[in-house]
Amino acid sequence: EEKKSISFVEQFVEEDLANGKNGGKIQTRFPPEPNGYLHIGHAKAICMDFGVAETYNGVCNLRFDDTNPSKENNEYVENILNDIKWLGFKWGNIYYASDYFEKLWDFAVWMIKKGYAYVDQQTSEDIASQKGTPTTPGTPSPFRDRPVEENLDLFEKMNTPEAVEGSMVLRAKLDMANPNMHFRDPIMYRIIQTSHHRTGTKWHCYPMYDFAHGQSDYFEGVTHSICTLEFVPHRPLYDKFVDLLKEYDETGIKGDMHDNRPRQIEFNRLNLTYTVMSKRKLHTLVDENLVNGWDDPRMPTLCGMRRRGYSPESIRMFINSIGYTKFDALNDMALLEASVREDLNKKAIRVSAVLDPVKLVITNYPDNQTEEMDAINNPENETAGSHKIIFTKNLWIERADFMEDAPKKFFRMTPGKEVRLKNAYIIKCTGCTKDAEGNIVEIQAEYDPESKSGMEGANRKVKGTLHWVSVDHCQKAEIREYDRLFNIENPSADERDFRELLNPDSLKIYNNCYVENYAATLLHGEYLQFQRTGYFIADPDSTTEHVVYNKTVGLKDTWAK
Ligand code: ATP
Ligand code: MG
Ligand code: MG
Repeated sequence: EEKKSISFVEQFVEEDLANGKNGGKIQTRFPPEPNGYLHIGHAKAICMDFGVAETYNGVCNLRFDDTNPSKENNEYVENILNDIKWLGFKWGNIYYASDYFEKLWDFAVWMIKKGYAYVDQQTSEDIASQKGTPTTPGTPSPFRDRPVEENLDLFEKMNTPEAVEGSMVLRAKLDMANPNMHFRDPIMYRIIQTSHHRTGTKWHCYPMYDFAHGQSDYFEGVTHSICTLEFVPHRPLYDKFVDLLKEYDETGIKGDMHDNRPRQIEFNRLNLTYTVMSKRKLHTLVDENLVNGWDDPRMPTLCGMRRRGYSPESIRMFINSIGYTKFDALNDMALLEASVREDLNKKAIRVSAVLDPVKLVITNYPDNQTEEMDAINNPENETAGSHKIIFTKNLWIERADFMEDAPKKFFRMTPGKEVRLKNAYIIKCTGCTKDAEGNIVEIQAEYDPESKSGMEGANRKVKGTLHWVSVDHCQKAEIREYDRLFNIENPSADERDFRELLNPDSLKIYNNCYVENYAATLLHGEYLQFQRTGYFIADPDSTTEHVVYNKTVGLKDTWAK
């Protein structure tokens, strides 16, 4: 097998292993905030976090980064677990940042006692206005030098039900002139009076990301804390808090932490054309009913893609193909679709479905005769076997497969010309019938009884092959076809409100489709290819009376094959 090329992330990991760091142990984590559903961007982080652990015989844990109760809940936790499993990854342990609230509190108290932290009672606006710029120093808070006892007392008060949100914050006393803005006395704790999904109303103030993440990594023994590029400027602060935590640990106040030094490594986020990835925007789409929920097949969420019919393998293949770099980029949705096609080509069961039907009558075929034809399930996979499709006198074919006055290069059906019916006979079109308005209501053809697939008469050259279903052996179906969710390539870079950029025609419903009976039994997540049309999957809205399919993606080239 060809050796997979490794990214700079794995290079760092190998370097650390070679230097004997962490006793040769590798431990990573995937740290979702349970405030929304996972999207394809998260899949990129998941593939990296779990991939590194897998490659170097380590372990990857899940850590729910649940430090802001106002937006988090258990529904999100459950769905995140489900999506990671679906992608095909196995975690070691499940941790929650909220498991460390007690330890973090004690550490914060220690920092106050050491003179490393203070309670600021200014408004957030005032605090922001004192930050300065990267080239000019900030202004120290008037509360910066208040006595330790006062700080301890106020910190206790921050954690009471009476504490008013926004009235106080705990800040680290670091360096108001540091060129790294994150060092200008960053906020460690803020008051939030919302019940937490795990700790209820036990806490009234909560640690900020920067005061929770590195410490959580340290508590768990994470060796490599892999994240996205926006955290590069946070890294010195991440390291600083770990340094302080080690200092705290050595004082013996809390002696249960092991000797570990997590290393933060950053890679570029995944951005995709014609969609958005920000959770805030995805929430808006759902909350304002601009899509039909988080699992709407147009959404970039993993549950949306699953419902759309994308396979987990195709998503992983795509992530692998774009790779990991130090530069943010916009990846082409077409590349993702190519991976989906490539994977589904190997997996999908071939069935027949007619989306825009018109009746075809085989005039020389006996009225009540039925014939079982063999239909191969997947030409790419012999073990997939075959199924029967029933041929009769009256068939449905696609309206677009017939043209009364056709140009020379039209290889579908036109009077006087032969076409092949997939898995069945060669037929010659003899004419059509129209209604008063001139719409074609029926097409007639004659079949050649010696031309059935497998017979000698089947071997003559006929350009077009059409799919069909028997009028008496099919099921009516609803088919949902999706287009890009947004009309423009990079909605996030546009100045207009992103709602204005939505594609109004992103969902097209075909209500009058027919699928062969076999297809109507494949309602449990089987990947399907509707011959000549594209890849499809049954939607969970399907019932035995009313089957619904989602179009996953079209075939690359509809007519050439
Ligand atoms: P948002 O910023 O929209 O709120 P988030 O990035 O904060 O989303 P989290 O649940 O905190 O969402 O993310 C969990 C992990 O997934 C983080 O390590 C984050 O870096 C990573 N991640 C999120 N979005 C992407 C993306 N588009 N590409 C790669 N990794 C991502
Ligand atoms: Mg986040
Ligand atoms: Mg974020």
